[in-house]
Amino acid sequence: MTDQHTAQRAEIGVIGGSGLYALLDDVTEITVDTPYGAPSDSLFLGGIGGRTVAFLPRHGRGHKLPPHRINYRANLWALHSLGVRQVVGPCAVGGLRPEYGPGTLLIPDQFVDRTSGRVQTYYDGLPLPDGTVPEVVHVSMADPYCPDGRAAALAAARSQAWEPVDGGTLVVIEGPRFSTRAESRWFTANGWSVVGMTGHPEAVLARELGLCYTSLALVTDLDAGVTAGEGVTHAEVLEVFARNVDRLRGVLFKAVEALPADRDCVCSHALDGVETGLPGVPEP
Ligand SMILES: [Zn+2]
Repeated sequence: MTDQHTAQRAEIGVIGGSGLYALLDDVTEITVDTPYGAPSDSLFLGGIGGRTVAFLPRHGRGHKLPPHRINYRANLWALHSLGVRQVVGPCAVGGLRPEYGPGTLLIPDQFVDRTSGRVQTYYDGLPLPDGTVPEVVHVSMADPYCPDGRAAALAAARSQAWEPVDGGTLVVIEGPRFSTRAESRWFTANGWSVVGMTGHPEAVLARELGLCYTSLALVTDLDAGVTAGEGVTHAEVLEVFARNVDRLRGVLFKAVEALPADRDCVCSHALDGVETGLPGVPEP
């Protein structure tokens, strides 16, 4: 069912693969347009434990969009326009330490941006199609992930008997290629934990809209610098992800239920006293 009306609302947004919401009953598909263009796909509204949730397939259905071509601004804006204030972003990553093998779930508390050429801000001073000109705003990114969201995710994983890694640094590379062995060893030598292609700029754009963002990083392989073999293949990544999708969905749903209904975290105050010039940001 496709509904062109966007009167529907959701509290919580999930950006991830379609396997994460495929089992929900009563999902309503809606299309949302944004000043930044179209998001990756339709949004799918459903309910989890009394919470209203909007699911967005990050790569579009059929995995058509590589990480560097995703319209991250449109994706976060579309969720925000539905009333979403908390976003959870599951993603597949490579482990940068031998102990972070396939099947490890890591809830990062930091990221390092190694992407290039991705638009990572709403505050570029350029006019929107309707003539609105955003202010230049510099948000704090010292702690990029929501502390309440992280706590909910950690507790959710433990409730599913899946001991997560509490904290760590997610390196985000441009892709779509995987890392060289030298790059991978350099990431490890810096003390970083896992490497992926989609964590940035999602967390940054969420913060710029005053949204909470929580990353669930599922390790699908050991990165090239940690293994002696040929390195990562896409087939391996898909295979490990498929094997873990059921329990990842379980953790995701528990975490969504446990997110606080009333926010009082660093993210919720990111735009306190700030004039953004963007319509609806911060929320009235
Ligand atoms: Zn928050």
